[in-house]
Amino acid sequence: MGLERLAEVREAFLADLEAAGNDPEALEAVRIRYAGRRSGLLQELTAALRELPPEQKRDYGRALNELKKLVEGRLKEAAAAAGSRKAAAKVSTVDVTLPGRRPPRGAQHPVHLVRRRIENIFLRMGYSVEDGPEVEDDWHNFEALNIPPDHPARDDQDTFYMPSGHVLRTHTSPVQARVMERQSPPIRIVVPGRVYRRDSDLRHSPMFHQIEGLVVDEGITFGHLKATLETFLHELFSDVAVRFRPSYFPFTEPSAEVDITCIFCGGSGCGVCSGSGWIEILGSGMVDPRVFEKVGVDAERYTGFAFGLGLDRVAMLVHGIPDLRLLFSGDQRLTRQFA
Ligand SMILES: [Zn+2]
Repeated sequence: MGLERLAEVREAFLADLEAAGNDPEALEAVRIRYAGRRSGLLQELTAALRELPPEQKRDYGRALNELKKLVEGRLKEAAAAAGSRKAAAKVSTVDVTLPGRRPPRGAQHPVHLVRRRIENIFLRMGYSVEDGPEVEDDWHNFEALNIPPDHPARDDQDTFYMPSGHVLRTHTSPVQARVMERQSPPIRIVVPGRVYRRDSDLRHSPMFHQIEGLVVDEGITFGHLKATLETFLHELFSDVAVRFRPSYFPFTEPSAEVDITCIFCGGSGCGVCSGSGWIEILGSGMVDPRVFEKVGVDAERYTGFAFGLGLDRVAMLVHGIPDLRLLFSGDQRLTRQFA
């Protein structure tokens, strides 16, 4: 008994531990033999402390504590090593030569793609992109745009009315009025967004997309309108002729509808253009001075032009999509083609 016994146990423990290696069961047996709570050797050595003569207790106690620490520390290390070896063994059962699982890849919607293309053309020309509410008040959707309550243009637009008297905006033009109310010229904006009308067939959906443009400054003429829209349409469709036809809109005067030569037949006539060789693509005009008066822009000092077109229609033309409703069907067979 005494310090010699401690040294023996220490040697035996280290030898047993080495023999156990990384085998979890053998390690457990070593743990029980030395550090077991009931009959472990460390228990026995601790009990032996009481039998020692007082002058030996102090050295023995210190050596015993060191031995306990060593046993606990080494057992812990060995258990951790065995554990990570086990985990490593598990990993190696994965066949790393097999091909991985591909994450599903999303695609941008064709209307979104066309919108971005058009926005980018105008951003390069120095315009900014504006946004506005889809639930609109009567003033911004109609009155400010020179469409009073008894105006026949209200009938054309098949409006969704809300009980509060608000409407789902029938065009993106109310954003023009909002921007002119809060910002003084010069103004150069495009406004993309969702609009709503009570209409549904091959070519109409109760919700569809428009993009609207507005320029207000001193000395803006119809020449600026024409040059801007020709530049834009040549960027968007490259090889087309552009023509302007007189038209009518309540908020512009004079007004013009703009056609391009049919992108399918090049102008010789086909089913898409109903044999005419031309496709109507946008509406435009010089901002009516009465609109300026309503939104507080000095009509003596400033002039401007506005234009608008259907994004869905452009997406259908550019990508040859036959039915407008396909765009809003949520059918991934359509969108996947744009990945
Ligand atoms: Zn054609």
